[in-house]
Amino acid sequence: MPTFELSELLNAATDEEGTILRRVAIKAKVLWQCRNSDCGLDMPRTEARCTSCGHDRDGRPIGDRIPPTYGAIPDELLTALRAALAEWFTERSRPLPDAVTFTYTDMYESHDWSEWGTLHFGGHTEPCCNFDGSDVAETLIELTEWEAPHWCDKLTIALPR
Ligand SMILES: [Zn+2]
Repeated sequence: MPTFELSELLNAATDEEGTILRRVAIKAKVLWQCRNSDCGLDMPRTEARCTSCGHDRDGRPIGDRIPPTYGAIPDELLTALRAALAEWFTERSRPLPDAVTFTYTDMYESHDWSEWGTLHFGGHTEPCCNFDGSDVAETLIELTEWEAPHWCDKLTIALPR
């Protein structure tokens, strides 16, 4: 059975043929369609999230992701971190991302949450935003004091829209 690029078929197809090809590709699970009603883009099966709006295959926007090895973070710490992040972007008149992901670091031979975060805007990410010296960094220290992250842990905090 020959393999081919679906895009080559779609490029050669008329609108009507393209609609049928897409429908078959979704049925065959080669593509999945974003369930966000404002988006609806076709995504290749290799993408876990829509590259345009960031919703997952079940139509959920990016949410909090707490490492499975980590305990259930107390609500007051989660709320404080979310508020500190929102304030950080507002104070700098920077666009509020959908979420921020922090990673584990062992720079000083202790296990900490890094004050560097990855920003999520819809389906794309912007790496390495430095929250050093801010309330965000303070809250991350409180979080580490509550429970130190483990090797390779990632913590995603969704921000209110
Ligand atoms: Zn989408």
